[in-house]
Amino acid sequence: MTLTEKDSQYLWHPYTQHKTSQTPIAISRGEGALLWDENNKEYIDAIASWWVNPFGHSNKFIADAIYKQLTTLEHVLFGGFTHEPAIKVAEKLMEILPKNQQKIFFSDNGSTAVEVAIKVALQYFFNKGEKRTTIIAFENAFHGDTFAAMAASGISFYTQAFQGMFIDVVRIPVPVKGQEQTSFEALENVIQHHNCAGFIFEPLVQGAAGMVMYEPEALDKLISICKENKVLTIADEVMTGFGKTGKTFAMDYVDADPDMMCLSKALTGGTIPMAITTFTQEIFDAFYDDDINKALFHGHTFTANPTGCAAALASIDLLQTDEMQSNIERINKNHLEFQKKIESHPKVITARTLGVIFAVEIKSDSEESYYGSMRTKLYNFFIENGVVLRPVGNIVYILPPYIMRDEQLQKVYKTIEEAIEMV
Ligand SMILES: *Cc1c(COP(=O)(O)O)cnc(C)c1O
Repeated sequence: MTLTEKDSQYLWHPYTQHKTSQTPIAISRGEGALLWDENNKEYIDAIASWWVNPFGHSNKFIADAIYKQLTTLEHVLFGGFTHEPAIKVAEKLMEILPKNQQKIFFSDNGSTAVEVAIKVALQYFFNKGEKRTTIIAFENAFHGDTFAAMAASGISFYTQAFQGMFIDVVRIPVPVKGQEQTSFEALENVIQHHNCAGFIFEPLVQGAAGMVMYEPEALDKLISICKENKVLTIADEVMTGFGKTGKTFAMDYVDADPDMMCLSKALTGGTIPMAITTFTQEIFDAFYDDDINKALFHGHTFTANPTGCAAALASIDLLQTDEMQSNIERINKNHLEFQKKIESHPKVITARTLGVIFAVEIKSDSEESYYGSMRTKLYNFFIENGVVLRPVGNIVYILPPYIMRDEQLQKVYKTIEEAIEMV
């Protein structure tokens, strides 16, 4: 049996209707921005394997750090114990996070980072004896697939089987250009009519919605409204963190600081699943008490896994090199040039860029759904041409590893141009 045949016998894939989906491609090797399948066909990974891989596949620097850690202390429980890699990650994050972030809590993936943040927002008020149980979130948000994260997510077909089983979430419009005032008013209205504990948002870019972008000034205003009303703010930087927007964090563009931040995806350079939720001292203090019931009773078996910590440290070191920073600028320049070229195309509705993130919306005759027919046509065209891109409906986005070379990037652009002609 081939790998693909064995796969279909045993495996259940994410976001996949196995009856109608195509068979998956078996990848046997990756290096830099490239992947090779079992037949040695080459692909450019233009979405950094779901936004996790800034420094390239099989990165030697991170691999060495992981190996060294694996042969020193691969794992130890974090309940009652601690270790240097976790402390070093915390120290490093204190240098690069917004200054008000003072405490870090480890978990395993983006969803758990969000789950922790939402539980903390709810328990913060419980501990203070205040009844606040509503979470505010954006329309079309994506915060993950565990229950509280799903509740906060607004992409409805992901969550429709579970409606009625969620914590209380109220949605407000995203403050995209022209909609800022509507969004501000909606937030004020929600806060007036509900007992709101927290507001969770993807800062500046909504990834899974199709790289929907909005301005820092608008987010600044929304956060200020929350602060005036003592609603805790949660910046979900799981996608945007570690350089994607051109700065280390999307929140670096925003004057106001959030109360909590969620990090994962690029945290370990796309090697080991790990996540972090960060907090202000004030939030931590609301759990600090002689009463054990005020503690945060949340944890995961692999919390602060030292090997993951070693990968995170190596990744942040790489991010901070001049070489990587100039790579980010180089990709941004290329994107802006391509955007200029493509946005006047008659089949293009709009194109947008922030940092290494680029998105183009293509005109469609019919209302295009998330996994609609244009999407499938585009996806297959890209794969045939050796480019990994996963359009969201009629939106094609690029989120390349920062080390992607100019000629690889040009091939991605050219393939997108050809695809636009084709559909
Ligand atoms: C991917 C993502 C998540 C969920 O992360 P997982 O590791 O897939 O659980 C949460 N929030 C945002 C903004 C994301 O992009």
